[in-house]
Amino acid sequence: MHQTHKAIGILGGTFDPIHLGHLRMAIELYEALDLAKIHIIPCFQPVHRKLPVASPEQRLAMVQCAVKDEPALFADDREIRRKGLSYMIDTLMEMRSEMPGTPLALLVGIDAFLGFPSWHRWMEILDQAHIIVAHRPNYQLPPTGLIADLISERLQHEIAFIHENQAGGILLRPITSLDISATDIRKQIAMGRNPRYLLPDNVYHYIKQHGTYSIVGSKHEI
Ligand code: ATP
Repeated sequence: MHQTHKAIGILGGTFDPIHLGHLRMAIELYEALDLAKIHIIPCFQPVHRKLPVASPEQRLAMVQCAVKDEPALFADDREIRRKGLSYMIDTLMEMRSEMPGTPLALLVGIDAFLGFPSWHRWMEILDQAHIIVAHRPNYQLPPTGLIADLISERLQHEIAFIHENQAGGILLRPITSLDISATDIRKQIAMGRNPRYLLPDNVYHYIKQHGTYSIVGSKHEI
């Protein structure tokens, strides 16, 4: 079916905190794939991992700071408003019903994609969206197994595919490798190190102002 709207990108995560690895991935895929916009969606409660350190409201506020001056990126609070476990399939179905004629493209780092077969109702996700897999340092796609089968069935090479079809394709895309992780940033802050230049300055200021990742009472509080 021919689509009249350009695809919208969706980047979900805990964003505890959002950092330049996330933001470079978003902006590079926005440009390379000619996306209409990217919705950055902090989860309320992650499904496969420990509870985040910062509250949902703080994580959303940090995403809002990060995208403030970038019209290509939108801080989408839908999972935080919905509460409960944040299943991506629910988010995609919600967006699909709001934007019935718009292709959706789920952006995931390769690390997240490797766990894809454990996502809730994962087989339905490609009915609602395309998946764009961004390379990250130190990760490789497996040569056999569910992920390998899925790629051989669904891999697309033409960017036009994601604008001309609502869902169903997988694209593998290189991005600038920035070996930055939120876990490492939280550790650095807790140890009293300066996390500047790993994340946007206004996010750094937010963390400083709110003492978000400091160990209370420690001399390392920032
Ligand atoms: P944590 O260290 O707490 O696991 P994280 O930095 O990996 O966090 P998430 O919020 O879990 O961040 O990631 C959201 C999405 O961003 C995932 O698809 C993940 O693969 C991707 N991502 C995270 N860090 C990077 C990075 N440095 N480069 C590219 N993609 C990234």
